[in-house]
Amino acid sequence: MTIDQYNFAGKKAIVRVDFNVPLDENGNITDDTRIRGALPTLKKILNDGGSLIIMSHMGKPKGKVNAKLSLSQIKDAVAKALGTEVEFAEDCAKAADQAKALKPGQVLLLENLRFYPEEEGKPVGIDKADPAYDAAKKEMKERQKEFAKTLASYADVYVNDAFGTAHRRHASTAVIADYFDADDKMLGYLMEKEVKAVDNILSDIKRPFTAIMGGSKVSTKIGIIENLMEKVDNLILCGGMTYTFAKALGGNIGKSICEEDKLDLALDIIEKAKQKGVNLVLGTDCVAGDDFKDGCNTQVCSVMEIPEGWEGMDAGPDSRKAFADVIKNAKTILWNGPAGVFEFDTFTGGSRAIADAIVEATENGAFSLIGGGDSVACINKFGLADKVSYVSTGGGALLEAIEGKELPGIAAIRGSKK
Ligand code: AMP
Repeated sequence: MTIDQYNFAGKKAIVRVDFNVPLDENGNITDDTRIRGALPTLKKILNDGGSLIIMSHMGKPKGKVNAKLSLSQIKDAVAKALGTEVEFAEDCAKAADQAKALKPGQVLLLENLRFYPEEEGKPVGIDKADPAYDAAKKEMKERQKEFAKTLASYADVYVNDAFGTAHRRHASTAVIADYFDADDKMLGYLMEKEVKAVDNILSDIKRPFTAIMGGSKVSTKIGIIENLMEKVDNLILCGGMTYTFAKALGGNIGKSICEEDKLDLALDIIEKAKQKGVNLVLGTDCVAGDDFKDGCNTQVCSVMEIPEGWEGMDAGPDSRKAFADVIKNAKTILWNGPAGVFEFDTFTGGSRAIADAIVEATENGAFSLIGGGDSVACINKFGLADKVSYVSTGGGALLEAIEGKELPGIAAIRGSKK
Protein backbone atom coordinates (compact mmCIF):
# COMPACT_ATOMS: atom_id res chain seq x y z
CA MET A 1 0.00 0.00 0.00
CA THR A 2 1.30 3.46 -0.79
CA ILE A 3 0.13 6.64 0.83
CA ASP A 4 -1.08 7.98 -2.52
CA GLN A 5 -3.40 5.00 -3.03
CA TYR A 6 -4.97 5.31 0.39
CA ASN A 7 -8.07 7.36 1.11
CA PHE A 8 -7.91 8.59 4.69
CA ALA A 9 -11.48 10.00 4.72
CA GLY A 10 -13.09 9.24 8.06
CA LYS A 11 -10.01 7.33 9.25
CA LYS A 12 -7.79 7.94 12.23
CA ALA A 13 -4.15 7.73 11.22
CA ILE A 14 -1.28 7.32 13.66
CA VAL A 15 1.87 8.69 12.07
CA ARG A 16 5.43 8.18 13.31
CA VAL A 17 7.41 11.27 12.35
CA ASP A 18 10.85 12.52 13.27
CA PHE A 19 10.22 15.73 15.19
CA ASN A 20 13.53 15.43 16.99
CA VAL A 21 14.20 19.11 16.25
CA PRO A 22 16.97 21.14 17.87
CA LEU A 23 15.77 23.54 20.59
CA ASP A 24 17.55 26.50 22.17
CA GLU A 25 17.73 26.94 25.97
CA ASN A 26 14.27 28.60 25.94
CA GLY A 27 12.68 25.70 24.11
CA ASN A 28 12.50 27.54 20.76
CA ILE A 29 13.03 25.49 17.60
CA THR A 30 16.30 26.50 15.91
CA ASP A 31 15.82 24.40 12.76
CA ASP A 32 12.37 23.21 11.67
CA THR A 33 13.53 21.17 8.64
CA ARG A 34 12.16 17.97 10.15
CA ILE A 35 8.72 19.42 10.77
CA ARG A 36 8.59 20.75 7.22
CA GLY A 37 9.78 17.38 5.94
CA ALA A 38 6.74 15.60 7.40
CA LEU A 39 4.15 18.09 6.13
CA PRO A 40 3.29 16.42 2.79
CA THR A 41 2.27 13.23 4.60
CA LEU A 42 0.40 14.99 7.40
CA LYS A 43 -1.42 17.32 5.00
CA LYS A 44 -2.42 14.49 2.67
CA ILE A 45 -4.16 12.76 5.59
CA LEU A 46 -5.95 15.92 6.74
CA ASN A 47 -6.92 16.95 3.21
CA ASP A 48 -8.43 13.51 2.60
CA GLY A 49 -10.66 14.07 5.64
CA GLY A 50 -8.74 11.93 8.11
CA SER A 51 -7.69 12.75 11.64
CA LEU A 52 -4.12 12.63 12.85
CA ILE A 53 -2.33 11.19 15.82
CA ILE A 54 1.27 12.32 15.56
CA MET A 55 4.03 10.58 17.49
CA SER A 56 7.78 11.19 17.70
CA HIS A 57 10.78 11.01 19.96
CA MET A 58 12.98 13.92 20.98
CA GLY A 59 16.52 13.53 22.27
CA LYS A 60 17.55 10.73 24.59
CA PRO A 61 15.48 10.83 27.78
CA LYS A 62 16.31 7.14 28.34
CA GLY A 63 12.86 6.02 29.42
CA LYS A 64 12.26 8.85 31.89
CA VAL A 65 10.12 11.98 31.80
CA ASN A 66 12.29 15.02 31.15
CA ALA A 67 10.54 18.38 30.78
CA LYS A 68 13.36 19.75 28.63
CA LEU A 69 12.55 17.11 26.01
CA SER A 70 8.77 17.44 26.12
CA LEU A 71 7.09 17.62 22.74
CA SER A 72 4.62 20.09 24.27
CA GLN A 73 7.30 22.69 23.44
CA ILE A 74 6.77 22.18 19.72
CA LYS A 75 2.97 21.88 19.75
CA ASP A 76 2.40 25.48 18.58
CA ALA A 77 4.99 25.20 15.82
CA VAL A 78 3.31 22.03 14.54
CA ALA A 79 -0.09 23.74 14.70
CA LYS A 80 1.28 26.70 12.74
CA ALA A 81 2.89 24.46 10.12
CA LEU A 82 -0.35 22.49 9.68
CA GLY A 83 -2.56 25.57 9.83
CA THR A 84 -4.85 23.99 12.41
CA GLU A 85 -5.11 23.50 16.16
CA VAL A 86 -3.21 20.67 17.79
CA GLU A 87 -4.23 18.89 20.97
CA PHE A 88 -1.58 17.40 23.22
CA ALA A 89 -1.59 14.04 25.03
CA GLU A 90 0.67 14.14 28.07
CA ASP A 91 0.65 10.38 28.48
CA CYS A 92 1.21 8.37 25.30
CA ALA A 93 -0.09 5.25 26.97
CA LYS A 94 -3.34 6.86 28.15
CA ALA A 95 -4.46 8.81 25.12
CA ALA A 96 -7.33 6.53 24.09
CA ASP A 97 -10.10 8.97 25.00
CA GLN A 98 -8.40 11.90 23.28
CA ALA A 99 -7.82 9.79 20.18
CA LYS A 100 -11.40 8.55 20.16
CA ALA A 101 -12.76 12.10 20.35
CA LEU A 102 -10.83 13.22 17.22
CA LYS A 103 -13.03 14.37 14.34
CA PRO A 104 -11.90 14.54 10.69
CA GLY A 105 -9.30 17.28 10.29
CA GLN A 106 -8.33 17.24 13.98
CA VAL A 107 -4.83 16.59 15.27
CA LEU A 108 -3.45 15.04 18.45
CA LEU A 109 0.26 15.19 19.26
CA LEU A 110 1.55 12.54 21.68
CA GLU A 111 4.26 13.24 24.27
CA ASN A 112 7.87 12.14 23.62
CA LEU A 113 7.71 8.38 23.03
CA ARG A 114 11.10 7.86 24.66
CA PHE A 115 9.76 8.94 28.05
CA TYR A 116 8.64 5.28 28.06
CA PRO A 117 11.37 2.62 28.24
CA GLU A 118 8.99 0.41 26.24
CA GLU A 119 9.55 2.55 23.15
CA GLU A 120 13.15 1.43 22.72
CA GLY A 121 12.48 -1.87 24.45
CA LYS A 122 15.76 -1.89 26.36
CA PRO A 123 15.79 -2.71 30.07
CA VAL A 124 16.71 0.34 32.14
CA GLY A 125 19.00 0.42 35.16
CA ILE A 126 20.47 -3.03 34.67
CA ASP A 127 23.90 -3.80 33.31
CA LYS A 128 24.37 -6.17 30.38
CA ALA A 129 26.80 -8.17 32.51
CA ASP A 130 24.15 -8.74 35.21
CA PRO A 131 22.92 -12.37 35.21
CA ALA A 132 19.36 -11.06 35.41
CA TYR A 133 19.78 -9.00 32.23
CA ASP A 134 18.37 -11.56 29.80
CA ALA A 135 15.21 -12.02 31.85
CA ALA A 136 14.82 -8.24 32.16
CA LYS A 137 15.25 -7.89 28.41
CA LYS A 138 12.64 -10.53 27.73
CA GLU A 139 10.20 -8.83 30.07
CA MET A 140 10.86 -5.47 28.42
CA LYS A 141 10.21 -6.93 24.97
CA GLU A 142 6.78 -8.08 26.22
CA ARG A 143 6.10 -4.62 27.63
CA GLN A 144 7.21 -3.15 24.30
CA LYS A 145 4.58 -5.23 22.50
CA GLU A 146 1.89 -4.05 24.92
CA PHE A 147 2.95 -0.42 24.44
CA ALA A 148 2.90 -0.80 20.65
CA LYS A 149 -0.52 -2.45 20.84
CA THR A 150 -1.85 0.46 22.91
CA LEU A 151 -0.55 2.99 20.39
CA ALA A 152 -2.05 0.94 17.55
CA SER A 153 -5.43 0.87 19.29
CA TYR A 154 -5.77 4.65 18.81
CA ALA A 155 -5.98 4.44 15.03
CA ASP A 156 -7.30 2.65 11.93
CA VAL A 157 -4.14 3.09 9.92
CA TYR A 158 -0.40 3.41 10.60
CA VAL A 159 2.03 5.52 8.60
CA ASN A 160 5.78 5.56 9.19
CA ASP A 161 7.48 8.72 7.94
CA ALA A 162 10.51 8.73 10.26
CA PHE A 163 13.49 7.59 8.20
CA GLY A 164 16.03 8.69 10.83
CA THR A 165 14.82 5.94 13.20
CA ALA A 166 13.94 3.30 10.58
CA HIS A 167 17.05 1.29 11.52
CA ARG A 168 15.69 0.74 15.02
CA ARG A 169 13.11 -1.84 16.02
CA HIS A 170 11.21 0.41 18.40
CA ALA A 171 7.56 0.21 19.46
CA SER A 172 6.50 3.12 17.25
CA THR A 173 8.81 2.44 14.30
CA ALA A 174 8.30 -1.28 13.74
CA VAL A 175 6.52 -3.30 16.46
CA ILE A 176 3.30 -1.28 16.07
CA ALA A 177 3.01 -2.41 12.44
CA ASP A 178 2.19 -5.96 13.63
CA TYR A 179 -1.16 -4.68 14.84
CA PHE A 180 -2.37 -3.42 11.46
CA ASP A 181 -3.51 -5.27 8.35
CA ALA A 182 -1.21 -5.10 5.34
CA ASP A 183 -3.58 -2.61 3.66
CA ASP A 184 -3.62 -0.31 6.67
CA LYS A 185 0.08 0.38 7.08
CA MET A 186 2.37 2.25 4.76
CA LEU A 187 5.40 4.49 4.39
CA GLY A 188 4.90 8.25 4.29
CA TYR A 189 6.10 10.48 1.45
CA LEU A 190 9.42 11.34 3.13
CA MET A 191 10.20 7.67 3.73
CA GLU A 192 9.26 6.81 0.15
CA LYS A 193 11.67 9.49 -1.09
CA GLU A 194 14.49 8.22 1.16
CA VAL A 195 13.97 4.63 0.07
CA LYS A 196 13.98 5.70 -3.57
CA ALA A 197 17.23 7.61 -3.09
CA VAL A 198 18.88 4.53 -1.60
CA ASP A 199 17.47 2.33 -4.39
CA ASN A 200 18.90 4.78 -6.88
CA ILE A 201 22.35 4.28 -5.41
CA LEU A 202 22.12 0.51 -5.04
CA SER A 203 20.10 -0.75 -7.98
CA ASP A 204 21.31 1.19 -10.95
CA ILE A 205 24.81 2.36 -10.22
CA LYS A 206 26.13 4.67 -12.91
CA ARG A 207 29.90 4.47 -12.86
CA PRO A 208 32.26 5.68 -11.70
CA PHE A 209 30.71 5.42 -8.22
CA THR A 210 32.59 7.55 -5.70
CA ALA A 211 32.00 7.48 -1.97
CA ILE A 212 33.44 10.11 0.34
CA MET A 213 33.61 9.10 3.97
CA GLY A 214 34.79 11.60 6.52
CA GLY A 215 34.08 12.47 10.12
CA SER A 216 36.15 11.86 13.17
CA LYS A 217 36.74 8.13 13.46
CA VAL A 218 37.35 5.08 11.35
CA SER A 219 35.87 2.76 14.01
CA THR A 220 32.31 4.06 13.65
CA LYS A 221 32.43 3.84 9.85
CA ILE A 222 34.21 0.55 9.36
CA GLY A 223 31.05 -1.44 8.53
CA ILE A 224 30.06 0.91 5.77
CA ILE A 225 33.65 1.33 4.49
CA GLU A 226 34.07 -2.44 4.11
CA ASN A 227 30.69 -2.75 2.48
CA LEU A 228 31.29 0.15 0.11
CA MET A 229 34.51 -1.46 -1.01
CA GLU A 230 32.32 -4.07 -2.75
CA LYS A 231 30.44 -1.42 -4.66
CA VAL A 232 32.48 1.70 -5.37
CA ASP A 233 35.16 2.56 -7.90
CA ASN A 234 36.65 5.33 -5.80
CA LEU A 235 36.68 5.63 -2.03
CA ILE A 236 37.82 8.93 -0.57
CA LEU A 237 38.60 8.70 3.15
CA CYS A 238 39.02 12.07 4.82
CA GLY A 239 38.41 13.92 8.09
CA GLY A 240 39.86 12.76 11.38
CA MET A 241 40.41 9.18 10.20
CA THR A 242 43.13 10.47 7.84
CA TYR A 243 45.56 10.57 10.75
CA THR A 244 44.95 6.99 11.85
CA PHE A 245 45.94 5.99 8.30
CA ALA A 246 48.94 8.32 8.24
CA LYS A 247 50.21 6.91 11.54
CA ALA A 248 49.63 3.33 10.36
CA LEU A 249 51.78 4.15 7.33
CA GLY A 250 54.59 5.35 9.57
CA GLY A 251 53.85 9.08 9.61
CA ASN A 252 54.38 11.57 12.42
CA ILE A 253 50.98 13.05 13.11
CA GLY A 254 51.68 15.41 16.04
CA LYS A 255 48.65 15.60 18.31
CA SER A 256 46.13 14.77 15.55
CA ILE A 257 43.12 12.65 16.42
CA CYS A 258 44.11 9.00 16.07
CA GLU A 259 42.66 5.62 17.02
CA GLU A 260 45.79 3.80 18.15
CA ASP A 261 43.97 0.46 18.27
CA LYS A 262 42.82 0.78 14.67
CA LEU A 263 46.22 1.04 12.96
CA ASP A 264 46.07 -2.57 11.73
CA LEU A 265 42.53 -2.02 10.56
CA ALA A 266 43.71 0.97 8.52
CA LEU A 267 46.39 -1.17 6.84
CA ASP A 268 43.77 -3.88 6.19
CA ILE A 269 41.54 -1.35 4.46
CA ILE A 270 44.43 -0.23 2.23
CA GLU A 271 45.18 -3.86 1.36
CA LYS A 272 41.54 -4.74 0.71
CA ALA A 273 41.14 -1.76 -1.59
CA LYS A 274 44.12 -3.00 -3.62
CA GLN A 275 42.68 -6.52 -3.84
CA LYS A 276 39.29 -5.26 -4.94
CA GLY A 277 40.70 -2.76 -7.43
CA VAL A 278 39.12 0.16 -5.58
CA ASN A 279 40.88 3.49 -5.99
CA LEU A 280 41.40 4.49 -2.36
CA VAL A 281 42.09 8.21 -2.06
CA LEU A 282 43.63 9.38 1.21
CA GLY A 283 44.62 12.94 2.06
CA THR A 284 48.31 13.68 1.50
CA ASP A 285 48.47 17.13 3.06
CA CYS A 286 46.48 18.91 5.73
CA VAL A 287 45.80 22.21 7.37
CA ALA A 288 47.16 21.74 10.87
CA GLY A 289 46.24 23.90 13.84
CA ASP A 290 48.12 24.57 17.07
CA ASP A 291 44.94 24.54 19.15
CA PHE A 292 41.51 22.91 18.76
CA LYS A 293 39.91 26.33 18.30
CA ASP A 294 38.48 28.45 15.54
CA GLY A 295 41.03 31.08 14.48
CA CYS A 296 44.05 29.22 15.92
CA ASN A 297 47.40 29.38 14.10
CA THR A 298 47.53 27.15 11.03
CA GLN A 299 50.06 25.69 8.65
CA VAL A 300 49.83 23.40 5.65
CA CYS A 301 51.95 20.27 5.96
CA SER A 302 52.20 16.68 4.80
CA VAL A 303 49.98 14.31 6.78
CA MET A 304 53.15 12.26 7.30
CA GLU A 305 55.06 15.13 8.88
CA ILE A 306 52.87 17.07 11.24
CA PRO A 307 55.03 18.95 13.74
CA GLU A 308 54.80 18.19 17.47
CA GLY A 309 52.08 20.23 19.15
CA TRP A 310 50.08 20.59 15.91
CA GLU A 311 47.07 18.62 14.74
CA GLY A 312 45.58 17.97 11.33
CA MET A 313 42.20 19.68 11.28
CA ASP A 314 41.32 19.92 7.60
CA ALA A 315 42.33 18.56 4.20
CA GLY A 316 45.18 20.54 2.60
CA PRO A 317 45.21 22.04 -0.92
CA ASP A 318 46.75 18.98 -2.67
CA SER A 319 44.24 16.66 -1.00
CA ARG A 320 41.35 18.93 -1.91
CA LYS A 321 42.44 18.90 -5.54
CA ALA A 322 42.84 15.12 -5.56
CA PHE A 323 39.40 14.67 -3.98
CA ALA A 324 37.76 17.16 -6.34
CA ASP A 325 39.31 15.59 -9.46
CA VAL A 326 37.89 12.18 -8.55
CA ILE A 327 34.49 13.56 -7.53
CA LYS A 328 34.07 15.63 -10.69
CA ASN A 329 34.39 12.52 -12.86
CA ALA A 330 31.89 10.49 -10.85
CA LYS A 331 28.41 9.55 -12.02
CA THR A 332 27.19 8.32 -8.61
CA ILE A 333 28.28 10.02 -5.39
CA LEU A 334 27.69 9.29 -1.73
CA TRP A 335 29.01 11.72 0.89
CA ASN A 336 28.98 11.05 4.61
CA GLY A 337 31.13 12.97 7.08
CA PRO A 338 33.12 16.22 6.78
CA ALA A 339 36.74 16.51 5.67
CA GLY A 340 37.70 18.65 8.62
CA VAL A 341 36.48 20.38 11.74
CA PHE A 342 33.94 22.27 9.64
CA GLU A 343 32.24 23.74 12.73
CA PHE A 344 35.22 26.14 12.88
CA ASP A 345 35.29 28.53 9.90
CA THR A 346 39.09 28.17 9.76
CA PHE A 347 38.67 24.49 8.81
CA THR A 348 35.73 24.41 6.38
CA GLY A 349 37.86 24.56 3.21
CA GLY A 350 38.23 20.83 2.65
CA SER A 351 34.53 20.13 3.09
CA ARG A 352 33.74 23.12 0.89
CA ALA A 353 35.98 21.77 -1.89
CA ILE A 354 34.16 18.43 -1.67
CA ALA A 355 30.74 20.11 -1.72
CA ASP A 356 31.68 22.29 -4.71
CA ALA A 357 32.96 19.27 -6.66
CA ILE A 358 29.76 17.35 -5.86
CA VAL A 359 27.68 20.26 -7.12
CA GLU A 360 29.72 20.38 -10.33
CA ALA A 361 29.39 16.62 -10.89
CA THR A 362 25.63 16.85 -10.23
CA GLU A 363 25.33 19.65 -12.81
CA ASN A 364 27.05 17.29 -15.23
CA GLY A 365 24.48 14.55 -14.63
CA ALA A 366 25.75 12.61 -11.60
CA PHE A 367 23.38 11.37 -8.90
CA SER A 368 24.60 12.69 -5.55
CA LEU A 369 23.34 11.61 -2.16
CA ILE A 370 24.41 13.39 1.02
CA GLY A 371 23.58 11.85 4.38
CA GLY A 372 24.50 11.99 8.02
CA GLY A 373 23.98 14.97 10.30
CA ASP A 374 27.37 16.59 9.82
CA SER A 375 27.62 16.44 6.04
CA VAL A 376 24.06 17.71 5.84
CA ALA A 377 25.00 20.54 8.22
CA CYS A 378 27.97 21.27 5.89
CA ILE A 379 25.89 21.39 2.74
CA ASN A 380 23.35 23.62 4.50
CA LYS A 381 26.10 25.87 5.86
CA PHE A 382 27.36 26.34 2.30
CA GLY A 383 23.81 26.93 0.99
CA LEU A 384 24.23 24.14 -1.57
CA ALA A 385 21.50 21.71 -0.46
CA ASP A 386 19.35 22.35 -3.52
CA LYS A 387 22.28 21.80 -5.87
CA VAL A 388 22.79 18.12 -5.07
CA SER A 389 20.44 15.27 -6.01
CA TYR A 390 19.26 14.28 -2.57
CA VAL A 391 19.95 15.26 1.03
CA SER A 392 18.89 12.46 3.33
CA THR A 393 17.37 13.02 6.77
CA GLY A 394 18.96 9.78 7.94
CA GLY A 395 22.45 9.26 9.30
CA GLY A 396 22.71 5.77 10.76
CA ALA A 397 19.59 4.63 8.90
CA LEU A 398 20.98 5.79 5.56
CA LEU A 399 24.32 4.06 6.07
CA GLU A 400 22.68 0.83 7.19
CA ALA A 401 20.39 0.89 4.16
CA ILE A 402 23.36 1.43 1.86
CA GLU A 403 25.22 -1.38 3.62
CA GLY A 404 22.34 -3.50 2.32
CA LYS A 405 20.89 -4.13 5.79
CA GLU A 406 17.17 -4.50 6.04
CA LEU A 407 15.76 -1.59 8.06
CA PRO A 408 13.23 -2.85 10.67
CA GLY A 409 10.98 0.19 10.12
CA ILE A 410 10.64 -0.60 6.44
CA ALA A 411 10.56 -4.39 6.75
CA ALA A 412 7.70 -4.09 9.28
CA ILE A 413 5.58 -2.47 6.60
CA ARG A 414 6.74 -4.09 3.41
CA GLY A 415 7.40 -7.54 4.83
CA SER A 416 10.83 -9.03 5.28
CA LYS A 417 13.02 -9.64 2.23
CA LYS A 418 14.25 -12.85 3.83
P1 AMP B 1 31.35 11.76 12.74
O1 AMP B 1 30.32 11.98 13.83
O2 AMP B 1 32.25 10.61 12.97
O3 AMP B 1 30.72 11.77 11.35
O4 AMP B 1 32.31 13.00 12.82
C1 AMP B 1 31.93 14.31 12.58
C2 AMP B 1 32.89 15.19 13.30
O5 AMP B 1 34.20 14.91 12.85
C3 AMP B 1 32.67 16.66 13.09
O6 AMP B 1 32.20 17.21 14.29
C4 AMP B 1 34.06 17.19 12.75
O7 AMP B 1 34.40 18.34 13.48
C5 AMP B 1 34.96 16.04 13.15
N1 AMP B 1 36.25 16.04 12.45
C6 AMP B 1 36.47 16.06 11.13
N2 AMP B 1 37.78 16.13 10.88
C7 AMP B 1 38.42 16.16 12.05
C8 AMP B 1 39.79 16.25 12.44
N3 AMP B 1 40.75 16.32 11.53
N4 AMP B 1 40.07 16.27 13.74
C9 AMP B 1 39.10 16.20 14.66
N5 AMP B 1 37.79 16.12 14.35
C10 AMP B 1 37.45 16.10 13.07
